[in-house]
Amino acid sequence: MKDRAKEHLGRNKFTVCSYPECDKIAIYSHAISKKISISSIAEDNHLTFFNPKRRGSVKVPKFDSIGINDCSGFNGFCKDHDDLFQEIDKNIISTSEHVKLQLYRSLSFELHKDKVGMFQNIKLDDEHATQALIDLNIISSESESTCDLRNLVKRKFDFLMRESLDDKLWLIEKLSLYMLHLLKIKDYFEFQTDTFYAFSTDNLKHQVFYYMTSYNIPVAINTKITLSDAEPLNYYFIVIPFEGKSLIMGIVPDDSQKLIQDKINSVFNEELSVIKFIESVISSCDGWYIKPSIIDNMPDEKKKVFLDDCMFINERRFYQDYDLSIFDGLKMEICGLEHDSEELTVFPNRDEYESRYNVMMEAITRSII
Ligand SMILES: [Zn+2]
Repeated sequence: MKDRAKEHLGRNKFTVCSYPECDKIAIYSHAISKKISISSIAEDNHLTFFNPKRRGSVKVPKFDSIGINDCSGFNGFCKDHDDLFQEIDKNIISTSEHVKLQLYRSLSFELHKDKVGMFQNIKLDDEHATQALIDLNIISSESESTCDLRNLVKRKFDFLMRESLDDKLWLIEKLSLYMLHLLKIKDYFEFQTDTFYAFSTDNLKHQVFYYMTSYNIPVAINTKITLSDAEPLNYYFIVIPFEGKSLIMGIVPDDSQKLIQDKINSVFNEELSVIKFIESVISSCDGWYIKPSIIDNMPDEKKKVFLDDCMFINERRFYQDYDLSIFDGLKMEICGLEHDSEELTVFPNRDEYESRYNVMMEAITRSII
């Protein structure tokens, strides 16, 4: 089951192009330009990302190295439709047209990731049901698996697949199709650095914002963060690094709490809050690739706390400040902070790993069973 999903996530010769009504086979390409973006923050052609490893029945947090050819790679579009993105593969994103192209590409990437879930839409067999029970920490070994427990998991699994997957995918698909529609509206202009831009339409039901910094933030992000209020709301954040600059983009649902909208509208008033906002996004999502030396140069104690925090992204929200500084060098260089300032050196103690793990697993178990 997992392998089939993995096949579609990785390079392959059978995933179909995601452009509407195209049935050609997709080629492997990048959601974020390898040539001018990913490369601008790579060291020895590699970046670092969070990649927890399974050890027995638990997942152990781990930073890993990833080659620039694989960062944000996916089988998204056939050759013809991938050519749509040539402009932003070869040039720095600098126009309103480029922004829409990137948003369409980034949404397609998120849709692709979630569609992989479709391949999990098969009946759970006894073996997988037992594994699910172990993964959910409901039982600790195969010998505790009973027919009743397995049937419970199987029924719940089927139900969840049927009920939620289509809705979930349709939410993303609708947005990506709308972005494609917006691309046909010609409202071309070149945008400025250090300037906040936002747009919305009645049909979009989201606010799109973007902001080009005049300094490089050494991370590439393409992520969807879902917050469950009365209804689950999807937020999309994209950070595209370039030599000497970074483009920050976001898609925020109109139904968001006011405090989230206020936060985003005020973040771009000063450089420190921009950098801290990106740290908050990193601390609450798993779709980032960072310049390796940022992690390598962290003091050991801080690195350990950050690594564990990456495991428990459920503990934080992107609209709240992260209490651990990631981009110390940038804050000193751009914001004039001293190397011994509290902002860079202080981070509160965390609870024991095991109790955090249990809280997370309980939350997951509750939401599924
Ligand atoms: Zn196509």
